[in-house]
Amino acid sequence: MRNADIVIIGAGISGAVLAERYANAGKKVLVIEKRNHIAGNCYDYTDENGILVSKYGAHLFHTNYEDVWQYVNSFSEWYNWEHKVLAKVDGQLVPIPVNITTVNKLFGLAINTEEEMSAWLKNNSPEIENPANGEEAALAKVGPVLYEKMFKHYTKKQWDKYPAELDASVLNRIPVRTNHDDRYFSDKYQALPKRGYTELFRNMLKHPNIEVMLNVDYFDISDEIGGYEKLFYTGPIDRFFDFKHGLEDKLEYRSINFVSETLDQPFFQENSVVNYPGEDVDFTRIIEYKHFGYQKSEKTTVVREYTTDEGEPYYPVPNTKNQEIYERYKAEADKLLDVYFVGRLANYKYFNMDQAFKNALDLFASLEQESTITNVLSKAV
Ligand code: UDP
Repeated sequence: MRNADIVIIGAGISGAVLAERYANAGKKVLVIEKRNHIAGNCYDYTDENGILVSKYGAHLFHTNYEDVWQYVNSFSEWYNWEHKVLAKVDGQLVPIPVNITTVNKLFGLAINTEEEMSAWLKNNSPEIENPANGEEAALAKVGPVLYEKMFKHYTKKQWDKYPAELDASVLNRIPVRTNHDDRYFSDKYQALPKRGYTELFRNMLKHPNIEVMLNVDYFDISDEIGGYEKLFYTGPIDRFFDFKHGLEDKLEYRSINFVSETLDQPFFQENSVVNYPGEDVDFTRIIEYKHFGYQKSEKTTVVREYTTDEGEPYYPVPNTKNQEIYERYKAEADKLLDVYFVGRLANYKYFNMDQAFKNALDLFASLEQESTITNVLSKAV
């Protein structure tokens, strides 16, 4: 039997935050990670061209949470990075989120002011009060022509579902701007860790109270795990219950096939990320990592992203059917004592990085508060 006060399955954001918090509160923590590295999907490394690349796709940190920003700053230095994305539409590169430049370029217009842009959007989009799905959400914002050019097919490639088959929240992640602001996010803090995410996680997990086991699937050794105060599980919730509610209706996840290529030239594209929302190619976007932090190298590394059903689960698929299946698992999860389900896969939610940090920090704080109250009460008795 392995002894630890706190057992954590998975060394991604949620797992690393809980490990760090409990270790600093004096608990012995055991982290069990299936992969051969820490940092979950944030894992990055320096490749053969000397470029810091992310193994599981670009991760752009952005937050409005002061506590999360302070927390991540205690494990790494960060540099400001306001992410921008271009989309290849009708042979042109245009900014996404849609802003004045996007519309001017695609329709040969000369819109200048916020009023003109708002009027254009109003004239070209249907009024939909409460969008019931992703299609209605996008139509209400940008109208049918931009919907077709920028959202419909990208979404089909990304999710293998048309926007009408997904929750409105998926398409609502992308705002529409009535000005020239071409940043992808508008949060107060937008930054990247100076020496990469893996280094940030290494610093979080560098504590004498933390033991990290890599290359170990928890389900292979679960018999040896016991006697803990709390267990935090950050993997797919259905896997924990051996997929027992998934026989006819499987909980869906999307995975990504990253196809990397080295090019013997300084740059391939003018921006870190170029989206390909058309039907003409089957990848969704091309990432050129060298752009992040203005890295120097004689060569460049580009990665095409093909979203697939097969492979490791990265994205839960937000729609009503999956939510219903998830609720069945959640009901089981709620019955377990001292076992907590945390993070994107265990909560089956499309969290951003900062939300994952926030949830884990808040969970720790509320459990600590609970245990303080229990201690006080038991002493009083
Ligand atoms: N999306 C789209 N066209 C784009 C970018 C995004 O249709 O050029 C849609 C698509 O459905 C995507 C969703 O908006 O899944 C959210 O995009 P986001 O960039 O937030 O996705 P992530 O970076 O998390 O993969």
